[in-house]
Amino acid sequence: MGNVIAIDGPAGAGKSTIARLLADSLGYTYIDTGAMYRAIALWATRTGTSVSDAHRLEQLAVSAEIELLPQRRVRLNGEDVTDAIRTPEISAMASQVAAIGAVRAALVAKQREIAKHADVVMEGRDIGSVVFPDARVKIFLDADPAERVRRRAGEMPGEQAEILTAQIAERDARDRSRAESPLMQALDATYLDSTGMTAEQVRDAILAIVRARISNGKANGGTTTAG
Ligand code: C5P
Repeated sequence: MGNVIAIDGPAGAGKSTIARLLADSLGYTYIDTGAMYRAIALWATRTGTSVSDAHRLEQLAVSAEIELLPQRRVRLNGEDVTDAIRTPEISAMASQVAAIGAVRAALVAKQREIAKHADVVMEGRDIGSVVFPDARVKIFLDADPAERVRRRAGEMPGEQAEILTAQIAERDARDRSRAESPLMQALDATYLDSTGMTAEQVRDAILAIVRARISNGKANGGTTTAG
């Protein structure tokens, strides 16, 4: 079992950016678990599978071959789906598919398998609370809603920003209120509000926590701790 750094939080809190920066600094593998739920949502959409067909969705989740590649590229059953999984429709579908316990169980099994063989920075909603309750470092990354919309979309006309704000709020509400592994801060996670901070400042704050908790050379970004 490798070291696990768990980064959880709502949509647009900056998890992906921060998790990638951390993984680069530490030489760990970056794992975007949201991309896995998105891949199942895409496959469901393409096969006309209804969100109420839990059994069929479970089958898709069990049999999906999901590859998380460098540069945040994602392959589903051998096909590059990097862009296809990032549409607003797939975001909404992903959070509906993610409410189904059997789908989660199948993807959590894949996530645990990955961490058997590698040190990982894993981002999602339930990594510290459910997937790796014994993770060495757990961060709950938050930011205020207006900033989360800006990070997701950059500057955009008011009307579009309003639509996106509503979509993110709806997705977060569903993620927080579902019965299965809702989005929540693990009791032993560190809460970090990144509003007004640069990505590098957030990364460095988390690196300080990582260094205090994990004392092997790799986790110190290659700097020596001998002596
Ligand atoms: O992180 P991202 O926004 O790409 O995730 C898409 C959706 O997948 C989330 O809204 C959430 O419903 C679901 N998800 C989850 N558990 C995770 C990661 C993502 O339920 N660990």
